[in-house]
Amino acid sequence: MIKHDAHLECFIKECRSQYEDLLAQVVEIPSISSDPAHATDMRKMGTAAVHILKSFGAEARLVETSGYPAVSGGWFVGNHYPTVTIYNHLDVQPADEPEWRHSPFTFQKESDRYRGRGTTDDKGPALTALFAARYVIDNKLPLNIRFLWELEEEIGSPNFAELLTQPELVPRSDSVLVSDTIWVAKQRPAIPCGLRGLLVARMILQTGTTDVHSGLTGGGARNPLAELCEIANACVEAKTGHVKIPGFYDKVLKPSPEEVKGFLDSGFQVNRFKQAYQLRSLRTDNREELMQRIWAEPTFEVHGLAGGHIGPGVKTIVPASGELKVSMRLVPNQRPDKILTLLRRFVKGLNPNVQVVSDGKLEPFRGVSTGPYAEALVRSVRSGFGKVPVLVREGGSIGAVDHLDRSWNVPILFMGLSLPEHGYHAPNEYFDWGQASGGIRTFVHYFQELAQMGKQAAMKKKAKRSAR
Ligand SMILES: [Zn+2]
Repeated sequence: MIKHDAHLECFIKECRSQYEDLLAQVVEIPSISSDPAHATDMRKMGTAAVHILKSFGAEARLVETSGYPAVSGGWFVGNHYPTVTIYNHLDVQPADEPEWRHSPFTFQKESDRYRGRGTTDDKGPALTALFAARYVIDNKLPLNIRFLWELEEEIGSPNFAELLTQPELVPRSDSVLVSDTIWVAKQRPAIPCGLRGLLVARMILQTGTTDVHSGLTGGGARNPLAELCEIANACVEAKTGHVKIPGFYDKVLKPSPEEVKGFLDSGFQVNRFKQAYQLRSLRTDNREELMQRIWAEPTFEVHGLAGGHIGPGVKTIVPASGELKVSMRLVPNQRPDKILTLLRRFVKGLNPNVQVVSDGKLEPFRGVSTGPYAEALVRSVRSGFGKVPVLVREGGSIGAVDHLDRSWNVPILFMGLSLPEHGYHAPNEYFDWGQASGGIRTFVHYFQELAQMGKQAAMKKKAKRSAR
């Protein structure tokens, strides 16, 4: 059995230098999944992770997919014990922003801070969960713990479904804990219980074969870029963000009153949000409305309009073709397939020559916010960080979650350790020991709660059997 907290505190203190060594080791592998030039680093990352798990006494292996492999491993301590899977990813965003003050793939320790690409997203949190697991396994907790470390999260998990078709290598568990999200503010732990989905599309219009002189053809030649601007304008009210595609909002599930309360208690501040993302002005400065907008409402964004002359100055041509690049963030219960149909129908009615190409989609996700798992997690975070967490929603998307949900149909909960100031997907990314040590405490407590839930379930079963 787990001994009292002093024992855990001692473990946390003692494991710190090993934690830092391992974090340095994994951060210095530039596992940029979006860049084919790093293909060998991806495999190196996977192999290193398998090695780390094995050095902790866990069973571990690489599981191949059509893309990069994933790492699957853990401890199986008993048939009749519950099993939890911890999900993290070990691939990272590119790090070519000019604002980096040091080499992004050289690990730097500055007292409590650990700098480098991938420290907070998501290598630091992955190792945090691993140390917590080792602690409870060493203390003979009746719980099976599995790790699933993906290497394609930053590219939208295109092959994640393949992993779940290999149950002998990636076995189904009784619950999942995803550790890849950001708190709203440092002073308040946040548990997301919903993720936005995504629908990416390109709208292509070709009206000629080559760019032509606007003096010779202008007035008669169609202008594909102007026509695509008209499409964008028809889809979204630019200043408010209101989406005008008919039926777009039909299935939107509004946040519950408890969720709204969580938003309000989250520590979110309009000014800090503006500063963090260096936004000069917003669509609204109303705190509650802003939180609703970024977490619980769908969007339509124009990411780019390609075609014509984009060099310096103006070139007086009529372009031959154009491509409008858009995406929509979706919320529970919008379905990307349905929204794509609505978009196609709408665009066809506006301009039958515009071709709509779908470039990927992720289902929105509604997580567990009530019941024994959610309650256990809230207690664990409170004991880990000494603060009551708030339930929020996450504006981003995690591709693996939808696959896990559909294939395993088990409770999926989220416990992220990243802070807004950590530079998530941004230059000068870092993680810190405060979040790591609080995270170890939280995970240990949560594992203990899961084991306890398993014991109670077993007792109930036994009582039922003897009553018969
Ligand atoms: Zn991440």
